[in-house]
Amino acid sequence: MNAEKKQPRWKRVLLKLSGEAFAGDLGHGIDAKALEQITADIMQAQEMFDVEFAITVGGGNFWRGMTGAAGGMDRAQSDYMGMLAIVMNALALQDFFEQKGVYTRVQSAIRMPQIAEEYIRRRAIRHLEKGRIVIFAAGTGDPYFTSDNTAALRAVEIQADVLLKGTHGGVDGIYTSDPNKNPDATKIDKLTYLEVINKDLRVMDTTAITHSKENDLPVVVFDLMGEGNLIGLLNGESIGTIVE
Ligand code: UDP
Repeated sequence: MNAEKKQPRWKRVLLKLSGEAFAGDLGHGIDAKALEQITADIMQAQEMFDVEFAITVGGGNFWRGMTGAAGGMDRAQSDYMGMLAIVMNALALQDFFEQKGVYTRVQSAIRMPQIAEEYIRRRAIRHLEKGRIVIFAAGTGDPYFTSDNTAALRAVEIQADVLLKGTHGGVDGIYTSDPNKNPDATKIDKLTYLEVINKDLRVMDTTAITHSKENDLPVVVFDLMGEGNLIGLLNGESIGTIVE
């Protein structure tokens, strides 16, 4: 325990960053401005709190398996391309952190030793204990899954206290219906896992929610780009929507 730092609401955090977050305002590829902000927020949180961060990243800013499948590709082959897209984001994120002097390790679910460690659960935990940020790349390593699934799976494996799903694009939590389509949609502060599933509130894959439920992993959906949101959450403020 670090006596000089504040104790956060959750000590070990699994943060899920979607490909959208990497694309930022560009809408595709990697937006340096977005990565600057995301890494700065995480660093600020690390400075203030006695907190450990593991991060799973998505790849939708480059490729989604479904896109290829819709065009006639073999789904599994297309999904592997999606997992490689995730690796690109993971390496970019690592670079932005390391340029600021933050120690990180990328662990890939598909072996590629020249650029990343392979995923080893106990080693990931050890890195976290040593204060390094662990970035999980290549999803679960299996096709037909998503990075939401990966986030819930890895969070439980490393015994994270919470899964923070950072959204991008103005949606700051879970709504009664899609706020981009329905102006009457209202934000919900707190939900149970079953409510998310039964009301079909598609803010996270159902399998990821089910996995979180079975393992008592609280999930918070929040606006990643909202100023002070990450710090506020660690401070115990009610930000976004909590599912527990
Ligand atoms: N993917 C996969 N298995 C996994 C994780 C991801 O096959 O365990 C593939 C899948 O094709 C997916 C793509 O990687 O579409 C990118 O991930 P995702 O769509 O979840 O990224 P995000 O929506 O978070 O940007």
